[in-house]
Amino acid sequence: MIYKLRDYQQADVQALRERFRRGDRNVLYQLPTGGGKTVVFSYITEGAAKRGNRVLILVHRQELIRQTSASLQEIGVNHGIIAPGFTLSWDNVRVASVQTLVRRLTQFPPNYFQLIISDECHHAGAASWSKIFAHFSQANILGVTATPVRLDGKGLGRPAGGFFDSMVNGPSVKQLIANKHLAIPRVYAPPVGADLSNLRKKYGEFITAETAAAMDKPVITGCAVEHYRRLAGGVPAITFCASVAHAEHVAEQFRSAGYQAASIDGTMHDADRKRRISDLGNGGLHVLTSCDIISEGTDIPVVGAAILLRPTASMGLYLQQVGRALRMHSGKTHAVILDHVGNVMRHGMPDEDREWSLDGATFGPGAKKKDDQDLKIKQCEKCYAVHMPAPKCPVCGHVYEVSAREIEQADGELQELDAKRLQEIEDNRKKMFARREEGMCRTLQDFQALAAKRGYSPGWAFYRFKARQQRGGSAQQAGLAI
Ligand SMILES: [Zn+2]
Repeated sequence: MIYKLRDYQQADVQALRERFRRGDRNVLYQLPTGGGKTVVFSYITEGAAKRGNRVLILVHRQELIRQTSASLQEIGVNHGIIAPGFTLSWDNVRVASVQTLVRRLTQFPPNYFQLIISDECHHAGAASWSKIFAHFSQANILGVTATPVRLDGKGLGRPAGGFFDSMVNGPSVKQLIANKHLAIPRVYAPPVGADLSNLRKKYGEFITAETAAAMDKPVITGCAVEHYRRLAGGVPAITFCASVAHAEHVAEQFRSAGYQAASIDGTMHDADRKRRISDLGNGGLHVLTSCDIISEGTDIPVVGAAILLRPTASMGLYLQQVGRALRMHSGKTHAVILDHVGNVMRHGMPDEDREWSLDGATFGPGAKKKDDQDLKIKQCEKCYAVHMPAPKCPVCGHVYEVSAREIEQADGELQELDAKRLQEIEDNRKKMFARREEGMCRTLQDFQALAAKRGYSPGWAFYRFKARQQRGGSAQQAGLAI
């Protein structure tokens, strides 16, 4: 390896390879934004190509083509690019724009690629992706996403009508924060200046025209500008708006308040869009606004604030948006989230533990009981900070007034809840670690060393090794070796 993977990335690369070897056809990999999924699948690609496989990496945005190509280059993987403006290559690894490849499918025989890596694969239900998967029907698929759920809340597994047979989960947002791989979110939810209670949904999301009409008002934007000034003044911020026009109006109002602000949208020239994004990164802009262009695939780690002005019914979209601000950058410890649309109340804290499943039925917006959410979120009436339940505000120190009886009750419940949750998190971590430790064992000696370390009998090592060999043996015929 040319540069070092983080411990969990290494374990995840191993776990994913195991899944394919044992014969799983299509595997989903879930890792929060900022966890480094591009690095992980670049290593998978490297290993697969070394073993003579042809690998196709599918992305759906220009920015992602550049990022993926750079990541492959860094570990020395030769690759071609299938996108407008690039010439045909004969490399075994190709990075392709979905929109371009879907028009050039006839150039490739159906059995050309052995492995397809589908980045941001929560879009994989869309027609163009399905068409590509159908064409290369013999290839294994590795799907990668931070939020394995479709806009309508359905899962990505076969039972829910998706493509995937199994899922590997990387560490949670909370674990990444604890290890300083992500910034700590500091969430404020000022009173919503619009009535959002009657928004109607279409295909699982609030109707754009209605959200734009409710949100695109100078008084609401003014409130956002004031809170930005007070709580995040000058920190590079991205603002998520309800429509292109809304994004333009918000940028305009930030400019009249003395900030450098601009909006981007899908109709702009690529070069203009790129310039504005890099301006935000190099200090030329304070605030970048957009409708949905920057919610994913735009990597600007210096961003320290996210301003939410678009109510969304999609937990996936909400997490993608907030995730833009949580990336680590030198000197950055916190990220300010200004939620003016009730998204945090709707979908929970950014670092709340979420249980992702292949099956949409057990997971999705609304699947969680309201009471359950209320328990986990508390809002300070003084500074509007939103946080896990505590007797005082962790941001401004405001002590909540409660009666003596309530204090006793709440203290008891809180302590119990916190202790129980912490224990759960710790138990899960231990279990995960134990599984991974065993998963890393290859030879009989590996298993013997692990048995000695854990105080198990030598027989345990022998039987585990045998079981692994049997599984590995049959999988070598059934599965893909990458
Ligand atoms: Zn407070």
